[in-house]
Amino acid sequence: MNHSLRGYKTYKCRCDICVAAYVRAKAAENYKNRRTPINHVLISAEPLVRMFVDIRLSGGNMNKKIQRWRQEGISVYEADEVCMKMGYHPFEVFGPAYFEGLEQEEAEYQALYGEFEEANA
Ligand SMILES: [Zn+2]
Repeated sequence: MNHSLRGYKTYKCRCDICVAAYVRAKAAENYKNRRTPINHVLISAEPLVRMFVDIRLSGGNMNKKIQRWRQEGISVYEADEVCMKMGYHPFEVFGPAYFEGLEQEEAEYQALYGEFEEANA
């Protein structure tokens, strides 16, 4: 048999390799399901706020959102979602701050879950 995640699950092997594969797979699963709440990295929402003000998209619910963005900043996930809906890549709106936020966010996940790239092997 191969020592791997399959070794752990199917053959109930508990050698270092199989246990490590299992731990990595679990980490990847948690990452996907976002079971552990983490404080998202927030970047300044000003570039996005300015766009909304410029095109007069604000009003109603949007005002509340814009207020929150102004006060707290915006997570890279929300930034991505809102920009994509407007037909922009977030980089076009936020510039390098977007990728910096993304890198910080990934670093935080890795600190929590460790490396998970090989988990699908
Ligand atoms: Zn094994």
